[in-house]
Amino acid sequence: MHELSLATELVSQLSDVLIREGAREAVEIHVVIGAMSGVERVPFEFAFPVAAEGTPLHGAKLVIQEVPLKLCCVDCGRESITDDPIMVCPKCGSMGVEVIEGKELTIKSMEVR
Ligand SMILES: [Zn+2]
Repeated sequence: MHELSLATELVSQLSDVLIREGAREAVEIHVVIGAMSGVERVPFEFAFPVAAEGTPLHGAKLVIQEVPLKLCCVDCGRESITDDPIMVCPKCGSMGVEVIEGKELTIKSMEVR
């Protein structure tokens, strides 16, 4: 399961932060999942507690924020939001678009105690 290895990776990163901050445990973790990150929200929500078992992150609340795919056109500079996997600029029809948001799996914040 792809999500489990991602969750394990996330837990290990967050555990390092906890130790560095001298905190005992995490209370709430905010994560951003991009529409094109390849991470499915539901399996990730299931995988997280499994990965956190036996770590200081055990029992922490996982808050997921999903962000849509955001594109920027190289030709006309127009920024657009899409859920279409075929990425075309809606203004000029150019295929020269760059993904500026939506490919990420990032930790936004963590509340510790
Ligand atoms: Zn364009």
